[in-house]
This record gives sequence, structure tokens and C-alpha cells, in this order.
Amino acid sequence: MLRRAPDLYRLAEWAEEESILPKMRKHFSRLRRRLEHARLYVHCKDPRCGRTAKWMTLPRFHRGGWLPRPYYWCDEHGPWETSGISPKLPIHFDTIRAFRDKWGQKKTHKRIRQALGIKKGTRITEEFALRFFAKLS
Ligand SMILES: [Zn+2]
Repeated sequence: MLRRAPDLYRLAEWAEEESILPKMRKHFSRLRRRLEHARLYVHCKDPRCGRTAKWMTLPRFHRGGWLPRPYYWCDEHGPWETSGISPKLPIHFDTIRAFRDKWGQKKTHKRIRQALGIKKGTRITEEFALRFFAKLS
């Protein structure tokens, strides 16, 4: 999940359509639910706020779809404009599903990983992942 969430989301979606791999799907949804409790390390973009962010918005790409350049927001604040901007989406790997292109999915995964406090270049070993998910209840 931490290493290759976009592939997993695609696999799970496909398995769902085919009604196969029930164990994998169950485990996957358990990890997704756990992630809802993850601590976030990004702050609201409102200059006078500075609270921990819970939401993200994405700019619309001129060719359709979204650009994986999120802005982060708390419960109270949001973008000043609404045109050309996505609604507030949770800072969660689920947002990967808003993208149809693999590049956008990959980039978004990286951004969210950083928002979860996983620094660039961190080696995500099985041990690291187990420790990460063990902290979430
Ligand atoms: Zn705020």
C-alpha cells in the first residue's frame, strides 16, 4: 500500500468487478479504513490558519482531469475560487481514484505519502509498513 498504492487500487477495482480475490479485497479495505486514522503533517493553506490540514483540492488540468498538485485545507478553509478546482477531497490514498492517468495516480500517491509524514527517499520495507499501520487503530 505504501509502496505501490496505485497498482493496488487498480487491482482491487478489477477484482471487485470480477468478484474475485475476496481475501485481498478485504485486506485492502481494512488498510484503507486504517489510513483514515493516520496522522497528517501538512498545514492549512490559509495564511492565518496553520492548523493541521485534513482536506486537499486539486487544480483542473486544461486537458481534463486533475493535476496532482494539491493544496491542503482544514475543516474551515478552502480555496478562494471554485472554478477549475476540485471539491475538497480527503487526504487519503483513495484520492488516487480521482485520476485516470497513471502519472497523476503515481504523483498523488507520493504527495499523500509526504502528507503522512513519510519523507522522500524513505525505504519502505515490510517492517516499516507494519510499524506504520500498527500505529493506526
Ligand atoms: Zn484553515
